[in-house]
Amino acid sequence: CVIAAALVSRRVKSHRRWQRAAELVAEFEEGCGTPVGRLKQVVDAMVVEMHAGLASDGGSKLKMLLTYVDSLPHGSEKGIYYALDLGGTNFRVLQVQLGGKGSNILKQKVEKQPIPQELMTSTCEKMFGFIASKLKQFVEEDEESREGTIETRALGFTFSFPVKQSSVSSGVLMKWTKGFSIEDAADRDIVACLQEALTKEGLNMQVAVLVNDTVGTLALGHYHDQDTVAAVIIGTGTNACYVERTDAIIKYQGLLTNSGSMVINMEWGNFWTSHLPRTSYDVELDEDSLNRTDQGFEKMISGMYLGEIARRVLFRIAVESEVFGDVGSKLSQPFALSTPLMATMHEDESADLREVKRIVEQTLQIPDIPLKTRRLVVKVCDIVSRRAARLVAAGIVGILKKIGRDGSGPSTSGRPKGQPMRTVVAVEGGLYEGYSMFRDYVDEAIVEILGDVAQYIFLKTTVDGSGTGAALLAAAHSSNRKSYI
Ligand code: BGC
Ligand code: MG
Repeated sequence: CVIAAALVSRRVKSHRRWQRAAELVAEFEEGCGTPVGRLKQVVDAMVVEMHAGLASDGGSKLKMLLTYVDSLPHGSEKGIYYALDLGGTNFRVLQVQLGGKGSNILKQKVEKQPIPQELMTSTCEKMFGFIASKLKQFVEEDEESREGTIETRALGFTFSFPVKQSSVSSGVLMKWTKGFSIEDAADRDIVACLQEALTKEGLNMQVAVLVNDTVGTLALGHYHDQDTVAAVIIGTGTNACYVERTDAIIKYQGLLTNSGSMVINMEWGNFWTSHLPRTSYDVELDEDSLNRTDQGFEKMISGMYLGEIARRVLFRIAVESEVFGDVGSKLSQPFALSTPLMATMHEDESADLREVKRIVEQTLQIPDIPLKTRRLVVKVCDIVSRRAARLVAAGIVGILKKIGRDGSGPSTSGRPKGQPMRTVVAVEGGLYEGYSMFRDYVDEAIVEILGDVAQYIFLKTTVDGSGTGAALLAAAHSSNRKSYI
């Protein structure tokens, strides 16, 4: 009888634990809700903020930065160009060999390496000294293998942070994002910092263009497909750029470009609207971040944060429900769960969720969780990832709406009235590229928001586009032959 009573009490306890865990998950899911009506509100808010950001500097949390890029590569560029891509988890050096009209990219070399964590919060001299020395090594090896040097080497510099540009090859850092924080970089011309480091290394190289990674991605996308009008990055951070008519850039009236257009770097990571589904976990994540109250959209969407949001939810469940048993210290540790691992758990297709078990055991140090708990982990990953993907979709539709490519714009000549134009958006970044459930959620939400018009919208993945595109832009801007957007 005593044993029976103990059993019953254990069962009741376990039931209560589960109830609390289920409640927390349900609450979280509700807080992250993105029904199509809400997504449409986000779309409209994006359009409103785009207008406000174009109207005046500081008019919106969306900075809508000028890039001075008014011509995109078109295929007749020729020669050897280099690029440096800095701004995410990895840093890349590239060499691109272009053969001129009709020949596309002949050859390409890419070297990728992680940025040492300590450099991200060091000094300009250390950071730029590091990348300059890597670039020098790369160029020397490259020239040795080709047995030839170039007199004036042109470099495209991809720098993936908000920069206030004064020309296509100069600009001042506005603020750091994504865990970078090098204080003495504030208010300094980023190209001058790099050029100084190159000189110190004794490397003769001219920075032909300074571009955001979104702009590099757009350039490569456009090089392959001329219907490409926008680019989105969903990697460590998130952002978008698109081609805007100069007369719509009210804050720079009188801005003249040969094409009548210019690429605008939206810096959408900093987008905010009260329509965004924000939970207490998001608020706490923001409070604990290096850049509080900044990059609100990014903190719900990008690779730097998704795993961390999931960890926060799981930790609360662990504390309040004990379904994870005695929690080791790992789950309480910020950033203990990376987004790639979160994605792996989310996509675990094995019947017994083996991968989930392994990751929870190895990374979070919680041994042997039962299948029911593994399912709960997957559910949390799904909620985090689905919200992020659907918000990306809303952002993309916002851009399309702003430029009249959402089916609401005027029909163009030669096209039956109301028939939308084929529109391509270049997308780059680990989340879209390597995470198929995320990608499916983005695609699905675009269809939900746009209905039939979605069949004219194509999201095309590029790989190393941010760097390759910068090399292409360096080519386009060091030759006289330009094709206007
Ligand atoms: C930066 C953007 C960048 C994006 C993607 C954001 O944190 O502010 O400039 O394009 O990350 O790398
Ligand atoms: Mg990148």
